[in-house]
Formats: sequence, C-alpha cells, structure tokens
Amino acid sequence: MTDCIFCKIVAGDIPARKVYEDDDVLVFHDIKPAADVHLLLIPKVHVESLAHCDDGHAQVLSRLMLLAPKLAAEHGLEKGFKTAINTGVGGGQEVFHLHVHVYGNR
Ligand code: 5GP
Ligand code: ZN
Repeated sequence: MTDCIFCKIVAGDIPARKVYEDDDVLVFHDIKPAADVHLLLIPKVHVESLAHCDDGHAQVLSRLMLLAPKLAAEHGLEKGFKTAINTGVGGGQEVFHLHVHVYGNR
C-alpha cells in the first residue's frame, strides 16, 4: 500500500516516534496526542480496518490487545487507560490502516 501513511511509517519512509516493534507489530506516538500518552498500535501488514480482518488476522489482533496494557504501564498509565479502534468513515476512522489507540493521562 504505497499511499498508506502507516505503511510508510512501517517502511521507515516517514518518521515516527516508535516505542515498540517486533516482526508483526509497530507502536508509535500519535502525532496529535489526545492525552498525556497517546500510542498507536498497528499490524505491520496492511489491513484497512477491523471490518477487513478475517481469521488470518487473529494472531496479530491478539498481539495488539495483549501489548496495550503492557505498553500503557511502561508509559506511566498503571492506573488505567482508554482504548479505541475507529472503524470506517462512520466510526471516525481517518487513517485506513487498522490501528488501536491507547491513551490516557498520568
Ligand atoms: P483515526 O481517526 O483513523 O482512528 O486516527 C488516526 C490517528 O492517526 C489520529 O489520531 C492522528 O493524529 C494520527 N496520525 C495521522 N497521521 C499521522 C502521522 O503521520 N504520524 C503519526 N504518528 N500519527 C498520525
Ligand atoms: Zn497501510
């Protein structure tokens, strides 16, 4: 997906403040944070939204969910945090590469 901004971040073509990376997942700070801490957790593989996932995405979806509390705690959100997955135009999605928002105030 050459015109996808998050694929470009995965490829290193545009910069991001990365906080975690493995073979399947990349996590970076949101460029317009809505709270003290605002992370975006994405699969490295391009998938447009949650509505475009199938059984083949089960493993990476679970990886994203299990990383959320771990990374939140590492960023000072031990007391709790919010998660959001905006899906589709009606769900307020603006970047059409699946991402999990993890955010909160310290
Ligand atoms: P959505 O509304 O699609 O759920 O959220 C997209 C999020 O991506 C927004 O919170 C927006 O600030 C963030 N975002 C958009 N472009 C960039 C970018 O180039 N770099 C980073 N780090 N975040 C971005
Ligand atoms: Zn993409």
